[in-house]
Amino acid sequence: MGLFSFLTREVAIDLGTANSIVICNDKVVVDEPSIVAVDRATNKIIAVGKKAMQMDGKTHEGIKTIRPLRDGVIADFDKANDMIRELIRMINIKKTIIPPSLKMVICIPSGITEPMAAAIGIGIDVLQPVGNMIIDIGGGTSEIAVIALGGIVCNKSIRIAGDEFNQDIIDYMRKQHNIHIGERMAERIKIAVGAAIPELANPPEDFAVQGRDVLTGIPKELYVNYKEIAHALDKSIAKVESAVLEALAMTPPELASDIYHTGIYLAGGGALLKGLDVRLQAKTKLPVHVAEDPLRAVARGTGMALKHYDEYTFLIK
Ligand code: ADP
Ligand code: MG
Repeated sequence: MGLFSFLTREVAIDLGTANSIVICNDKVVVDEPSIVAVDRATNKIIAVGKKAMQMDGKTHEGIKTIRPLRDGVIADFDKANDMIRELIRMINIKKTIIPPSLKMVICIPSGITEPMAAAIGIGIDVLQPVGNMIIDIGGGTSEIAVIALGGIVCNKSIRIAGDEFNQDIIDYMRKQHNIHIGERMAERIKIAVGAAIPELANPPEDFAVQGRDVLTGIPKELYVNYKEIAHALDKSIAKVESAVLEALAMTPPELASDIYHTGIYLAGGGALLKGLDVRLQAKTKLPVHVAEDPLRAVARGTGMALKHYDEYTFLIK
């Protein structure tokens, strides 16, 4: 803390494939889906975040929506750039006589930094000579990493995560119920009645789904229960499980012995899928912990790394 530290703003950004979060001086100031809406004629951005998300799937030919980081890589550099600029603008830094200087760190989707940031955000002391396993299930990718002594010892990244789960639900609804639903509806189904196991201790109520009848083309409504969605997601979740088992099999024995005690930590929005912790616990026979507020673990960790810059310099490039 220097004399003029009140003039510095620490800005940590978690640029996710699905959601972007900005933390400024320990507070979440922006939390928006990573999506932009673009005017096709001028190629200009007309909406960012929630406003753009409301347009998704409802656009006419003059507008398109883009998720620039969708698959875990920066697929559309220009639009990613525009999106970051707009997110920073949303921070709404108070105008003062002397403009504050910004200290900024952006955590981008990459197999290496993200699980480390998640681990720090969960509150794990990553610098200790103790192994911990983190699984970060986001929109585009699931990152599985074993961390010790401030480094990633083994990691595995697969492109099976929240978006794929939504696609599974869309496919299931079409095949099983002859109803064509959009991605937004699939997302709502997943959040309401998505499950990783067919027997939940606290089952959610059935969910009303609206979409277009595949045969007649007429809008219709039907109810789905969580057991159906557990069935729809089963194959994809089995792939996440296999990746976890592979990562465990790559783990050096001394760290494996640590993980036997510390267990597995789940972060990212996918950690909220009902019964996922129970299923992974049954598969690995290890303790599985869901991070507190898993959607914000990476952002919190990025903020902490920035605040304790001296300890974590090796993470910040
Ligand atoms: P990213 O870091 O890639 O932006 P997030 O960690 O923000 O991803 O997680 C976003 C994913 O989590 C989305 O696919 C979203 O559908 C999913 N998600 C959010 N809430 C839930 C929930 N309650 N149940 C299951 N999945 C969820
Ligand atoms: Mg993430």
